[in-house]
Amino acid sequence: MDKTESSGVFSREDASRGVDFVRALINRDNEVGTYEGRVHTRFPPEPNGYLHIGHAKSIVLNFGIAEDYRGSCNLRFDDTNPTKEEVEYVDSIQEDIRWLGFDWEDRLFYASDYFEQLYLWAENLVERGLAYVDELTAEEIRDYRGTPTEPGKNSPWRDRPAEESLDLFRRMRAGDFPDGHCILRAKIDMAHPNINMRDPALYRIRHAHHHRTGDAWCIYPTYDFAHGQSDAIEGITHSICTLEFENHRPLYEWLLEHLPVPHRPRQIEFARLNLTWTVMSKRKLLRLVQEGYVDGWDDPRMPTISGLRRRGYTPQAIRDFCGRIGVSKTNSTVELSLLEFSLREDLNARAPRYMGVTDPVKLVVTNWPEGKVEWFDASTSPTDPEADTRPVPFSGELYVEREDYMEEAPRKWFRLAPGREVRLKFAYYVTCHEAVRDASGEITELRCTYDPESRGGDTPDGRKVKGTIHWVSATHAVPAEIRLYDTLFDRENPDEVEDFTAAINPESLVINEGYVEPALAEIEPGESVQFLRMGYFCRDRKNGPTAASRGGAADNRTGDADKPVFNRSVTLKDNWARILRNKREDE
Ligand code: ATP
Ligand code: MG
Repeated sequence: MDKTESSGVFSREDASRGVDFVRALINRDNEVGTYEGRVHTRFPPEPNGYLHIGHAKSIVLNFGIAEDYRGSCNLRFDDTNPTKEEVEYVDSIQEDIRWLGFDWEDRLFYASDYFEQLYLWAENLVERGLAYVDELTAEEIRDYRGTPTEPGKNSPWRDRPAEESLDLFRRMRAGDFPDGHCILRAKIDMAHPNINMRDPALYRIRHAHHHRTGDAWCIYPTYDFAHGQSDAIEGITHSICTLEFENHRPLYEWLLEHLPVPHRPRQIEFARLNLTWTVMSKRKLLRLVQEGYVDGWDDPRMPTISGLRRRGYTPQAIRDFCGRIGVSKTNSTVELSLLEFSLREDLNARAPRYMGVTDPVKLVVTNWPEGKVEWFDASTSPTDPEADTRPVPFSGELYVEREDYMEEAPRKWFRLAPGREVRLKFAYYVTCHEAVRDASGEITELRCTYDPESRGGDTPDGRKVKGTIHWVSATHAVPAEIRLYDTLFDRENPDEVEDFTAAINPESLVINEGYVEPALAEIEPGESVQFLRMGYFCRDRKNGPTAASRGGAADNRTGDADKPVFNRSVTLKDNWARILRNKREDE
């Protein structure tokens, strides 16, 4: 089915309900009873890296369809390539899918579980003259293949007797030949307009250790030979993959047609997710990890599920994002700001509000009674009267955000400046009088007075103050490491440079020594909060004092910093809303 055909799959009801084309195809199958109304999908990751946000799109699609149709979705590791696969990846992939909120129940499979059956089916093709052992070199095979405009040439081995091919294939399996000595190919058509149908490779010799089958095999099936047959064995009805497999579909179908498989699944292709400011290929992500550009697969700047989790993304935000981008048959690149928008929406609804100062400067209240401490009962929600409160201490020495002071402020500056009055959130009005500087000219202290009548943020004379800023009490504040993230790359399309690592943004991580209010020292690693006015922050899961040192149960975090670490998940500024607004104005 090509793009034009795909529009023909929508029934009138589907079109009016706005279902995607994959579900429309399934509905059509269900109407005519292709699979007796059964819907069974699978998510087939290759365990050669961590899952990324593109995989999330596929997971949400496959598991989401199973949920919608009361069907099932299998997790199948596509582990046909022995050299690149590792157990670490198998484990992380399962953790990430579960974290996203999906469950394969008892249906965890490995393509390698089917090696014996696949081998027997390959022998079956050889016996029936539908496959042969080819002894051309890799280079000769390329030459013989032809081009998209010229047909290929038959290999001289193509018409060797089936018994000879069978004997050689068995000896391939027995380990009689070195890597690359020969391959098993399907005998289809060297002049086929689709190059994938020009006698494609089915088995290659590879003397390599496999993470599950060990040294039992020295021949491995190709993706094309393994995938559709694995789908058939598992009773998959709709085998959903990305567009690059569209021109493999004739081969997928040819194999199912020519093998005695128990069942014939349907392959459906959709467009993969690309994101601006991001690289998504596992090969490139692996390079970032191996060459130390990032702090592992779960670095909060990585587009991996584990990186997003550590950054403070929630499963709901990711699932919501996948819903918003939809499913189509046309490749496109989605704005990173849409992903951030989804997170902001989710955290706005759930993250409690606290105060943290990310770039502190001291503020001294010169008329505050020496040694006095006042506690404010502050709500963690701006809107919910039932929300939790926590005690916030106020004293004569505070920290405020350095950017909240300006020496020569314009008229519309509603924050600190000489002679200007602002409201300190939850507490008092203060008027700034002067800034004290050190020898280098850097401000070390802002000297202010407070109005004792303004407790709680109003004055008896009803004086209006436009600006409200956040603060923490210096003597009570908890020092914290604040990690401010920007995009990992310095341009929207990092792939436009020859080596994408040259496009790494040197300011993608800025570490500040900040201060947070005492209550924030108590929140758990992985919890998300809003720092008022500054953005959403997530307490880091890996770094910071261990739970044991905080008086809790031991955990496995490394605890290599003695301060809590907060990752900025996303700022409060809403670029996506701005883009939407601009788009509307353009229309
Ligand atoms: P990569 O190009 O990152 O190495 P891959 O396709 O080789 O990805 P797999 O582990 O084979 O990675 O992918 C598992 C499933 O996820 C496949 O069905 C694949 O089509 C799908 N998938 C991978 N990348 C994306 C993406 N960017 N958008 C949507 N689906 C994706
Ligand atoms: Mg793949």
